[in-house]
This record gives sequence, structure tokens and C-alpha cells, in this order.
Amino acid sequence: CGIVGGVSKTDLVPMILEGLRRLEYRGYDSAGLAMLQQVPGQQPSLERVRSVGRVAELTAATSERDLQGMLGIGHTRWATHGGVAECNAHPMLSHEQIAVVHNGIIENFHALRARLEQSGYVFTSETDTEVIAHLVHFYRQTAPDLLTAVRQTVAELRGAYAIAVLSLADPDRLCVARMGCPLLLGIADEGHYFASDVAALLPVTRRVLYLEDGDVALLERDKLTITDQAGQPQKREEHWSELSA
Ligand code: GLU
Repeated sequence: CGIVGGVSKTDLVPMILEGLRRLEYRGYDSAGLAMLQQVPGQQPSLERVRSVGRVAELTAATSERDLQGMLGIGHTRWATHGGVAECNAHPMLSHEQIAVVHNGIIENFHALRARLEQSGYVFTSETDTEVIAHLVHFYRQTAPDLLTAVRQTVAELRGAYAIAVLSLADPDRLCVARMGCPLLLGIADEGHYFASDVAALLPVTRRVLYLEDGDVALLERDKLTITDQAGQPQKREEHWSELSA
């Protein structure tokens, strides 16, 4: 299982599909991606493709849809909660506004789900992950920005996670957070990227930095902001990866 994606000045669909292929060795049963698609002259839209089985099948489904986007998130799933089915494949959406990919396990998802259902959220999967998408949607309505909404969300989560969050209302930024699962960022002239494993970033950059547990980061094309869960700025050292591509 793994996650990969970023925000760039060029189309990221090929990078995400290649990244997912490079994460295949970690094991998975399904895969998916969500892109923020911006056709000139039209409102941005949130597009999702998911498939059970191999990344090659996701690649075929994606090219059928003629998908493009300079901001996106991808996932290979190793099911822990909910069977292997397209409805349980990530990204998970909330109100066609928020998309989330997640590796790990949210231990308190039953309680969170019950609470969200009481406030009217409708669940379409059996996963623990879906509570994250709805929580971000819930907090984004009152939070001043996406980073704050994601910090408020992770403050409620118990368990292990590497997550990436895309929000249609925030078309130039992505949020990621980590607790107990690997997650690193990549830096390039065109933008910023994230992945579970450096192998997925090597096609676009060798400049990487490793997040630590409790880190929440905001990725923009020309800016990177890393904080802890309380919002205090954090500094993580940049490395040059010498791994062979
Ligand atoms: N617990 C989540 C699920 O079952 C994520 C699994 C993973 O790490 O791929 O959907």
C-alpha cells in the first residue's frame, strides 16, 4: 500500500500512475486517484478513478477518461476495514468537495462515524478512511484555511496514518499528515510532491525531506509549510537521494 501525488505546473496524471506502479512492491488489492481538473474557461472539477486489481487497470481506466490535472492524489490499497471492492477503494470523497487517500488504520472510526452520521453525513464505503474525508469537509466549513481544517481533523484521529487531502475549494494546495506511517515530500522547480516511498518521487525529483510523526504539511507550487498538530512551524532537513531511478 502507498500514497503519491503533488501540486505542479504540469499535468501530474502520468507521474501519479508511474508512482503507484513504483509502490506496487508494497502490496495492494486496489488503486485509485483523484485529480483537480481545470479546463480553461470552466470551473475546476474534482475527478476520481478507482479500480480493483492492478495499477495497469487504473492506468487504462484513466486514459479512457482522458484525465488531466496539475494537482492530484493517488493510492494503492491494502484493505484493513471493508472488503476489496471499488466502493472501498480510495480516494474517499465528501460531498464531491474533499478527496482523501490514507494508508494505515483509524482505530476510533466507529465513534467518529456514528457522530458524523448523526450530523447528516452519508457513508458510501465500509472503510475506516471515509471518516477522514467527512471530518475535513465538516471542519473546512468554519476553518480559515485547509491546513487548519486538516489539523482539526487529525486531532480527532487515533491510530496510524499517512494521509493526503485535496479540496475543490482550495484548487492550488494539498495537505498531508503523518502518524506512524512513512511519508516524505519532494521538491522541484515545477512544484511539490509527496509519497510513501522515495522510489515514487525519483522520476520528478531527488530533493526530498522526510516528515516525522505529528507533522502536518501544506504543499503549494512554490511553497512548502510544515507544522505540528498545534500549528507550530517545524523544520525538516532536505536530503539529496542517491538511489538509482
Ligand atoms: N484502512 C484503510 C482501508 O482499509 C487503508 C488501508 C491501506 O493502508 O491501504 O481502506
